[in-house]
Amino acid sequence: MQLRYQYRVYPTPGQQDMLARSFGCARVVFNDCLLARQNAYAAGLKVSDTDVQRWVVTEAKKAPQRAWLAEVASVVLVQACQDARRAYRNWFDSMSGKRKGRRVGAPRFRSRKDNRQAIRLTRNGFSIRDNRKLYVAKVGELKVVWSRDLPSEPSSVTVIKDAAGRYFASFVVETTDEPLPECDAEVGIDLGLTTFAVLSDGKVIESPKFFRRAERRLRKAQQSLSRKERGSKNRAEARVKVAKAHARVADARKDWAHKQSTAIIRENQAVYVEDLCITGLARTRLAKSVHDAGWGVFTRLLEEKAARFGRVFVKVDRWFPSSQLCSVCGVQDGRKPLSVRRWQCQACGVVHDRDVNAAKNILAAGRAERRNACGGAVSLSV
Ligand SMILES: [Zn+2]
Repeated sequence: MQLRYQYRVYPTPGQQDMLARSFGCARVVFNDCLLARQNAYAAGLKVSDTDVQRWVVTEAKKAPQRAWLAEVASVVLVQACQDARRAYRNWFDSMSGKRKGRRVGAPRFRSRKDNRQAIRLTRNGFSIRDNRKLYVAKVGELKVVWSRDLPSEPSSVTVIKDAAGRYFASFVVETTDEPLPECDAEVGIDLGLTTFAVLSDGKVIESPKFFRRAERRLRKAQQSLSRKERGSKNRAEARVKVAKAHARVADARKDWAHKQSTAIIRENQAVYVEDLCITGLARTRLAKSVHDAGWGVFTRLLEEKAARFGRVFVKVDRWFPSSQLCSVCGVQDGRKPLSVRRWQCQACGVVHDRDVNAAKNILAAGRAERRNACGGAVSLSV
């Protein structure tokens, strides 16, 4: 399976300049590709990928207003074409239903002001030198902090500059992890608001305090930014501060989620999580909560690690009332206010902890869904 390994990179001022040019050229080529495809589409013409690439790279270089494309590595420009092609294709496939999962929007033009600037290189555009530096075509040898070893030869690298002005190299590698020895335990996970998550075996994962602390810091930085005059130097500085606060939150969240998810994957053969449609949630009432973003990272890591170590990961559709359903007898016991932490089932008399009961229901639904993996919804109604 393919995994990303990301490292901090420290380019010299000269290399930063060359990277900036490469980012710029990749962006222009990407946008030119989108434009060419849009125009062709509007005119009802079919264009091939090679046509597009010839127009926006080979032919474009001959025009005076695009001559500077020749200053950067051509592999970067070719990859930008491919990125544009994939963005276009994902959008089409999503519209036609060929692509499953979240709806993919129309490709967006890239801007100089985007928070993330990046170039992608395949094997012929980069190499890792004997001195442990990362050679990037036309940019030179970049200093990398190898925080962990690459498990194998990377097939591509993306060099990124984020909004906080930090540089990263993100490698794609094929991993050859041995699956973990099989075990019997299976677990359902209920993601909560008061606690981060509750497992069907009764284990509680508390929300780390830094979520709140980091949220406060972030809010402060944002307030300070909103008070600065547009276009001023102070505003630019405040924006970097906001970006840095964001980056700190993201890093801390990821570290923590790595630890939690590793423990769960080690201890369980199958993991079932409710599908919260996190992207949908984030846009509505929980928009400002650092919490929901934490769920996204956490479930993604669970899924990734399950695949790596031969475990089962299933997302359970949350269309059944997991906190109303008795996990013992299956009676639906009506809506309960959030303040009700424990309740007794009217039918079988078992006393439930609200969250553990929900997690047990998720476990049951996940098992059913897995047995029924060939498709179709699973009926849980009683
Ligand atoms: Zn019951």
